[in-house]
This record gives sequence, structure tokens and C-alpha cells, in this order.
Amino acid sequence: MALNTIQTTTGTATPAELGRTLVHEHVLVGYPGWELDARAPKFKRDEAMARAVDQMQELQGHGVGTFLDPCPMDLGRDPVFLAELSQRSGMRIICATGMYFEAEGNTYTFRNLPVEEVTAIFVQEIEQGIGDTGIKAGVIKMATGANQVSEYERKMVTAAARAAKITGVPLISHTQDATCGHDQIDIVTGEGVPAGQLLVGHSDGTPDFEYQKSLADRGSYVGFDRFGISMFQPDEVRVNNIMKLRDAGHLERVMISHDSIVCWLGRPVPYAMQFEKLLEMLPDWRSTHIFRKILPQLRERGMSEQEIETILIDNPRRWFSTGLVA
Ligand SMILES: [Zn+2]
Repeated sequence: MALNTIQTTTGTATPAELGRTLVHEHVLVGYPGWELDARAPKFKRDEAMARAVDQMQELQGHGVGTFLDPCPMDLGRDPVFLAELSQRSGMRIICATGMYFEAEGNTYTFRNLPVEEVTAIFVQEIEQGIGDTGIKAGVIKMATGANQVSEYERKMVTAAARAAKITGVPLISHTQDATCGHDQIDIVTGEGVPAGQLLVGHSDGTPDFEYQKSLADRGSYVGFDRFGISMFQPDEVRVNNIMKLRDAGHLERVMISHDSIVCWLGRPVPYAMQFEKLLEMLPDWRSTHIFRKILPQLRERGMSEQEIETILIDNPRRWFSTGLVA
């Protein structure tokens, strides 16, 4: 049954309450098997919590009201940690159900479950809660690999779309190298879900403006959600293409975020390096980067305060509202 409110890790919220929203950031991330990496630094929960509280408070200083962590089930998702962080910091935090793409996520169990069962699991995590925590997922993560959608991914995306149709919660995706965004829209709309209920994530992984515009033309949200990750794309390209989308009349389809991570569980792969080292290599890959360095650039390029609030407040609100029962 479609819901009439947004599920957060600590209760419910209305779309109007979200405020400035970062739609794609992470607190904890670990690839399947991370806990078996005996050479990785041990996870120190108290230290991670303290660091996360600091980051949430810093974001609150930039007016952020809602933090969406779309960590899929198979990437070290920890709803209890997120709920405690929300209580300690006062930040509204939303978590996800759904699975990552085949090459970097997945389990033998989910590979073998039929699509109906996977759909029912996603719905249960939204309607009843994750495990016995009582914490409900507020979005559904879906993911595809590079250039083609595998059988496994087609099953997972189909289940995600069906669960979105039933519950009304939004879909947020991972794309690899900014490919298969249209395949995702095809599957989702093929299941009767409006394109506007889907945010096609990591669409800033390419400099190709026409690709980004073509997603917006179909009515989906376009994720410029890896600001600060310069190895994937320079921020300058992201800023240029956002301005072009705005000039093409598609500002209402733009979402911005960083895909930042507070604490890496195990070691970043494939690098097998310390997470701190990766942070050193990417000094702008922080959840406050947009507020410190990107908004000033957008203003300089002629974007008004109202347009900035459209991106940070109105677009997430509209996306969350799409499937809700009024
Ligand atoms: Zn992510």
C-alpha cells in the first residue's frame, strides 16, 4: 500500500519538512566480505560515531536538514548506527533497502531468490522495518554495471521498481561510468512507476551533456552526485553541465551531492589502502564541499539563490512526493 509519509531512521517526515537535502552521501560503507579482511584497520564504533556527529553538525551549519544515505543492503548498511547518529546530531537521516550491482555487491542468496521474493523483502523493509530493528527504509536503491544490465541486475531493478510501485517510495540508482541510465528508466516505467520517481545516480560520471539532458527529457532526476571526486570527473565539467541543463529548462531535474563516506569498513578496494590515504588524494571529497566551493561557483555563473534552493530543497521534495498518497 502506498505510504503517505516519508520513512526516516527515527520516524516519519512530510516532504515539506525535509529542507535542504543531500540526496547521496554515506556514513558507513564496506564491500561484501569486508569483515573478513584481517589486515584492515579494526572498526572503532565510538570513533566513527564521533566523527559522523561532527560532520552532521557541520552540515547543519550549512542549513542541511536531511541526509540521505542510500547504502544498499549488501554494502555494510547499518540502520542502527544511522538512527543513533540521527538522535545524537539532530540530523534527519533516511536509509535504503535494495541491492548493489552484480560486480561489486550481491550474495548467493539474492542471486537465487525469485523476483517476487526480492520484491516482498524490499516492501517488508519499508513497511515493517529492517530485521528486528523497527527502522524503516525510506528509499529503494537500485544499481546496474557498466554498459549492459546483467540478468541479476534486471531482476533486482525490476523488484525495486515493483516495490516502489507498491509503497510509493522513491528510487535512487547507481550507474557505472554513467551508462545504462535509459535502461533503468525503461525497466522502472515498464513496471508502471513514473520516471519522476527515479533519480538516475552518478550521471555526472561522463562529460556528455546530451546524455544528461536525455535523462531529464524523459522526466527522471539527474544525479550530479559525485562532486569532489576528481578522478571520475572534474567539478568544472559538473558545474558547466548543470548550467547547460538549467539553460535548457531542466533545473527541476538536477540533484547534487558528493557520494562521500564518513568511515570505510575494511579497506577501500581495489586499492587496499588506508581510507585516510584516499581522503588525502581527494581533498574536496567531503560532504560540505558543495557549500564551501560549488555554490559560490554557481552564483558566479548567474544562478540565483532561488534556483539554488530549487536544487537543494524543491527537487528532493518533489521526488519524494511523486509516489506518496496525498
Ligand atoms: Zn553511493
